[in-house]
Amino acid sequence: MGLRPSALTFDFIAKCSTTKARAATLHLPHGPVQLPMFMPVATQASLKGLSPKQLEETSCRLCLNNTYHLGLKPGQATLDAIGGAHKLQSWPHNILTDSGGFQMVSLLKLAKVTEEGVRFLSPHDGTPMLLTPEHSISLQNSIGSDIIMQLDDVIATTSPDLTRIREAMHRSVRWLDRCIAAHKKPESQNLFCIIQGGLDLDLRRECCKEMVNRDTPGIAIGGLSGGEAKAEYCKVVNTCTGLLPDHKPRYVMGVGYPEDILVSIALGADMFDCVWPTRTARFGNAITNTGTHNLKNAAYAYDFGPAEEDCECMCCRKPENGGLGITRAYIHHTAAKETAGAHLLSIHNVHYLLDMVRRAREAIVEQRYPEFLHRHFDRLYAGDKSKYPHWAVDALKGVGVDLMSPQH
Ligand SMILES: [Zn+2]
Repeated sequence: MGLRPSALTFDFIAKCSTTKARAATLHLPHGPVQLPMFMPVATQASLKGLSPKQLEETSCRLCLNNTYHLGLKPGQATLDAIGGAHKLQSWPHNILTDSGGFQMVSLLKLAKVTEEGVRFLSPHDGTPMLLTPEHSISLQNSIGSDIIMQLDDVIATTSPDLTRIREAMHRSVRWLDRCIAAHKKPESQNLFCIIQGGLDLDLRRECCKEMVNRDTPGIAIGGLSGGEAKAEYCKVVNTCTGLLPDHKPRYVMGVGYPEDILVSIALGADMFDCVWPTRTARFGNAITNTGTHNLKNAAYAYDFGPAEEDCECMCCRKPENGGLGITRAYIHHTAAKETAGAHLLSIHNVHYLLDMVRRAREAIVEQRYPEFLHRHFDRLYAGDKSKYPHWAVDALKGVGVDLMSPQH
């Protein structure tokens, strides 16, 4: 057991006998969630176009909120007055918040990192502001999220400046210490550390060792999904999971596409988040087992099937089964001019990813995850193995699954 107070328990359910995939139940303050898990991103306390009730109906029990946005609006005083983000958005389930640092560095061109924190100019009136590890934790304490993230020093994985990457890794460890010291509610909110170190495996190893010593309730692998080669991404995830304790959740931040998630699960990761399912819905894209289809395409104008056959989401399910029975043709006709089409597709896309990871978990528990991977790639690429991405084939081969061999 850990030395520090924690507001979660991690029940190990099963380990894949071939790959490094795991299945667990994570008990959080607002109820249990099943790992592995995909977490939708609700930037400003709402998933774009979806009500909390609709989000709940996708089977989501843990969503992301954005500390930077909540800190600006409604702001800390209002959050304190209301009693946190669960009450603000009437969401009875779990919330995870980021530190706010990444948004500043990525959104605000003038952000500058010093040992003290991240300096930036207010997007409202241009006044200089400073986000420190202490301020980030104080904001997240006011938000009341079940999982809170440390402020880290994030460098693009594509940066060639190894000195700066090393500095950022060590600074992230020092900032974790400041976050731990500033955290006022360790009994009700779980602070996760974030492993940094770019694509340098030695730096990642050193960071894992330092972070694991600090004994936070959960561990994130950060700084990825920034345009690095997928093969490099897989090496970092695989190296880190090999050094992390078995009995703590492992969250790979900002990932990703269905294949990225399934391969990362095989490499031993448990939690994922991405804005992609809702963002791509706004362009009319439906995520399915046979790939991502753009329903704005003329071919769908008279297609009266659902976004995906046999999909159990509110959008696709037939009215006689309590669903909306939305057709591809309807989304085709509304996607271009109405927001309704995008909202309906968001429901489908979020449900698809939640359900895909749920099915992956079932396969892990039943010791058939390798077969599950074979079948997923087979359907996704319509049986054409020459189209399988090399990085996925190589990464899976490294954990005992050869996608190119005939399936047994
Ligand atoms: Zn659906």
